[in-house]
Amino acid sequence: MTCIDTSGATPPEQPGQAVGTLRRDQVPARVRTGEKVRPEQARVHNRELLLRMLYREGPHSRADLARRTGLTRVSVSDVVSDLLADDLVVEVGTRAGTRPGKPAMMLEFNERAYQTVALDLSHSTLYRGAVLDLGGTVVARQQVEIEGSTGADALAKVTGLVEALHRQVTAPLLGIGIGTPGIVDLGGVVLSAPNLGWQDIHLQALLSERFACPVVVSNDANATALAERSYGESAADTLLVRVGVGVGAGLLLGGTPILGSRFAAGEIGHVVVDAGSERPCVCGKTGCLETWLSTRRIQEDLSGARTDAERARVLTVAGEALGSVLAPIVAALNISEIVLSGPHRVLEGPLATAAMDTIRRRALTEVHGDIVLRLSELGDDIVLRGATAMVMSQQLGIA
Ligand SMILES: [Zn+2]
Repeated sequence: MTCIDTSGATPPEQPGQAVGTLRRDQVPARVRTGEKVRPEQARVHNRELLLRMLYREGPHSRADLARRTGLTRVSVSDVVSDLLADDLVVEVGTRAGTRPGKPAMMLEFNERAYQTVALDLSHSTLYRGAVLDLGGTVVARQQVEIEGSTGADALAKVTGLVEALHRQVTAPLLGIGIGTPGIVDLGGVVLSAPNLGWQDIHLQALLSERFACPVVVSNDANATALAERSYGESAADTLLVRVGVGVGAGLLLGGTPILGSRFAAGEIGHVVVDAGSERPCVCGKTGCLETWLSTRRIQEDLSGARTDAERARVLTVAGEALGSVLAPIVAALNISEIVLSGPHRVLEGPLATAAMDTIRRRALTEVHGDIVLRLSELGDDIVLRGATAMVMSQQLGIA
């Protein structure tokens, strides 16, 4: 399976270009006042605008698109021709109009036009991977046991998994998306991931060279937050807490992911909950949030619980640790919603209740009283779907 052309060699003016020639990262995020907008910038902008509308809101006619966006019918027809040639949009039959004349041909976003390879490195015992279509539906899946691998061994397993999935792709490949624990910069360098034994691993560069494809690497919690925003029900201001091999949070303010000046926003796993605790952490400190809340540590603690009451006590203590770390964040940012993502059998019940009670106790309830804490409904594939959303966001300007 070869990747689609992302070289950008085809001028955007020509119809039928490979979709990757209109990469979002080739467009300045903001055009300064007084700066002339080049025709190709306008074209990319218009293309993303129409594609986003069809992706998020379902079928529209060309006339609908022109009316909704304020673009001329000629511009809309022009861009739609390109999208049809790229197979990103398909014609799905006519709808009778309210006015006399020819019925309007409806256009639909084509979820099956391209596929992504997505990896989730956030689990403690295995790396999960899948081939997904642009609707977030899994087409094929594969996983590999970690068996304690770290460093170069872990990297070799990741590369092997991408290779295996790459062979199962059955449509043009839009790109590869990876959700990993740790701190990841905008260039896809994993600056630090203690659970994987990685430091300064140029994961994006390594994989894009090896597979000649666009690659997006992001922190797993940020990928999860993006999945909730794209496929779930999340509010615009959301704190998403991912519980897996580590514990991290993805923060969306006004729907925009907040990464922080050093890309470590939401790295709550190594906040010390109890300075007097002797619980050792992979980071070298003791008493970090992760030492109560990572899936591995919870399983260890639960294995020593003999009765239901003891089991509930373990989960309550983990929930209290989480609540004590989240309370100041909620208070500082006036967050309205917290979403927990991870194994439901662990998070549901005493853990979630204790976390919410602790936040209420520690933050001003009259100001933050309407805060909602819920479990993500997106299931085990949430990071994989988030990784797909990352690729779509970078390559198509949507999701
Ligand atoms: Zn730690």
